[in-house]
Amino acid sequence: MNSFTAIFLAALAGSVALRLWLAWRQVSHVGKYREKVPASFASRIPLEDHHKAADYTRVNTRIGMVALLWDTLVLLGWTLGGGLDWLDGAWRGAALTPVVTGTAVILSAMVVGTLLDLPFSLYHTFVVEERFGFNRSTPALFVSDLLKQGLLLAIIGAPLIALALWIMQASGALWWLYVWAVWMGFTLVMFWAWPAVIAPLFNKFSPLDDAGLKLRIQALMDKCGFRSKGIFVMDGSRRSGHGNAYFTGFGNNKRIVFFDTLLESLEPAEIEAVLAHELGHFRLKHIQKRLLSTMALSLAALALLGWVAGQDWFYHGLGVSQPSTWMALLLFMLVLPVFTFILQPLLSRLSRKHEFEADAYAVAQSSGSDLAQALVKMYRENASTLTPDPLYSAWHDSHPPAPVRIERIYANMKA
Ligand SMILES: [Zn+2]
Repeated sequence: MNSFTAIFLAALAGSVALRLWLAWRQVSHVGKYREKVPASFASRIPLEDHHKAADYTRVNTRIGMVALLWDTLVLLGWTLGGGLDWLDGAWRGAALTPVVTGTAVILSAMVVGTLLDLPFSLYHTFVVEERFGFNRSTPALFVSDLLKQGLLLAIIGAPLIALALWIMQASGALWWLYVWAVWMGFTLVMFWAWPAVIAPLFNKFSPLDDAGLKLRIQALMDKCGFRSKGIFVMDGSRRSGHGNAYFTGFGNNKRIVFFDTLLESLEPAEIEAVLAHELGHFRLKHIQKRLLSTMALSLAALALLGWVAGQDWFYHGLGVSQPSTWMALLLFMLVLPVFTFILQPLLSRLSRKHEFEADAYAVAQSSGSDLAQALVKMYRENASTLTPDPLYSAWHDSHPPAPVRIERIYANMKA
């Protein structure tokens, strides 16, 4: 224990209090507006659906508060409670090489962390999602997903961690720069490979086969100058009734993915408008921009890690008695979010800015009223609240609240 312990505890208490306060605001704000559909949606969203969205939002936010308290206890248990120190001692007892010991410590901490969070993901999937009619997953599918994730961790995660630890140990004072380069290379490869290699392990992707719709979509893609392996339909309905669409990958692997659940509920013109929004993300280079900001933030984080890894107070202040490369990495990953939560509104704001830009693009290339219509359907069917607390939303939401977003679409149509 030292003065860094006090700084850590103060930051942890501050971030937990802030998160709980924001969540409490969300719960009470959504409750306050539960009885009335906002005027601009009154003709399109029945009161019953508005109730469902409010209840769903409140339940999820409340569970999030419990999970936050649990995660805080777990973090304290790992650090000041001596959990990591114990795990480290146990693996050191096996007398393996430093890189192997370190990799084993990090992987076992990750596995234990996942198991400790399991009750929450089980409750979310099989109680909350079930109650609101969203769950389509089965216990067998849930277990097979977990096993696949474990396998990916072993095949991809383990060598990557071992490589990072080896660089930390072998490459001198600038190791953080080399680790950053490796990490960025890995991120780029994953970005490119994800849609074609990893995602198909969990879902089936089939080319869109509706001929009329395909023609319509091809025309829009030609107009927007988008060449890709195509539009894919994902069997999202395997796990959940929630619907979505997204743009992923780059180079020759870029593609647009629609959930089958979304396609079922949208008219062709609305699908075209949603596609135009996704093409907007592509045309406006949002993925590249996000990648660049990730690179800059990771570089800053690794430079910071490069410094704290050499400071004894960093380990001792967080309950670890024996400094090592792997403890530096592990402690840093566990503790950094406590200090960076304060930056969340900036990242959310950037994301919302991109959503507005993609909407404006869709209005110009396709139809604003079809886009608005599609959004209303998506909000209704996903039970997303139309009335989030403004502060909670500013902090957490990657997408603007529905009323703001749709109002902006109509403003763009007039402009
Ligand atoms: Zn978007």
